Amino acid sequence: MSQRDYYEVLGVSRDAGEDEIKKAYRKLAFQYHPDRNPDDAEAETKFKEAAEAYEVLKDADKRATYDRFGHAGMNGSGFGGGFSNSEDIFSSFSDIFGDLFGFGGGGGGRGPRPTAGADLRYNLTISFRQAAKGDEVTLTIPKQVHCPECDGTGAEPGTSPETCQQCGGSGQVVQSQGFFRVAVPCPVCHGRGQVIRSLCPRCKGDGTVPETRELSVRIPAGVDSGSRLRLRGEGEPGEYGGPHGDLYVVIYVEEDEVFERQGQNLIYRLEIDFTQAALGETVEVPTLDEPTTLHIPAGTQSGKVLRLRDLGLPHIGRQPQGDLLVEVNVKTPQDLTKEQEELLREFARLEEEKQGKPLNRAKQFFKKAVGKAMGE
Ligand SMILES: [Zn+2]
Ligand SMILES: [Zn+2]
Repeated sequence: MSQRDYYEVLGVSRDAGEDEIKKAYRKLAFQYHPDRNPDDAEAETKFKEAAEAYEVLKDADKRATYDRFGHAGMNGSGFGGGFSNSEDIFSSFSDIFGDLFGFGGGGGGRGPRPTAGADLRYNLTISFRQAAKGDEVTLTIPKQVHCPECDGTGAEPGTSPETCQQCGGSGQVVQSQGFFRVAVPCPVCHGRGQVIRSLCPRCKGDGTVPETRELSVRIPAGVDSGSRLRLRGEGEPGEYGGPHGDLYVVIYVEEDEVFERQGQNLIYRLEIDFTQAALGETVEVPTLDEPTTLHIPAGTQSGKVLRLRDLGLPHIGRQPQGDLLVEVNVKTPQDLTKEQEELLREFARLEEEKQGKPLNRAKQFFKKAVGKAMGE
């Protein structure tokens, strides 16, 4: 099942502004609207495709998630995006055409309106390795669920909520303000249109009870701190048949002892001896998997960065596959033996001979003065 890129679907560039996206969607929606294309399956598919793309790209958060994770971030394992049913498509459609066609837009007088449930946020700390390799994590989520006792009505079992006498069930009352008459939420039922005479003993009329749920989440390989995963419909329940909210899992990635992260690149600091740096050497360096070998060219300077292609973090969203950057740090030998010291003095003498001039060396008296000042 391959899914077309949302930007491609709408025919806009990746940096298209809100207005451009809206315009592009409007055009496609008019063109492929089922009313204008009866019994045309292809038009219907295109219409749904455009609506889905627009649903994601019009929302800054969803768009950012999509930009980072692509379709992988939007569906599969319950991650955001997509439409669960055709109603969603038309609710998105009426967002934009409501004023033109008179869709949606609460006509009133038909009882309480469905309200979407609240979104929840879950802060998840994962190890560096889990972020690098991806993982399946089980979250324990405290959340409000429909009260099983009263089936979410809030009324004691055997009774049911009654239509509010004050507003006749519309949830609104009309008030006069000067010349104007305005509708305000009913003060008796708080806009619900219904009143509960005897409260459900379990939920005390809330219609919801607290519960913990276990939820399995797939962490895509390559995520970074601040990445957000959206689990559609895993938030709090809506009221009066409204949809559930979403659950946002906000990722925090722990530091690693071996690697430092820079985008999708990994940095590894490698210490080598000055002889290895001077003569060249093949050494072993760790990677996310098995260690690999790396050739240090003769004459390598301290601070040199050697690149191992594609051994960084995996590609995710628009981030390309990273590299492993090995920063070479040349160690100066300490605690020399008598013999080593003699050999190094001989080496220094040969170096002077090669260069045809003495090494940078201050006059004797000056060197002593500095040595004292430094507390030697
Ligand atoms: Zn009322
Ligand atoms: Zn209840």
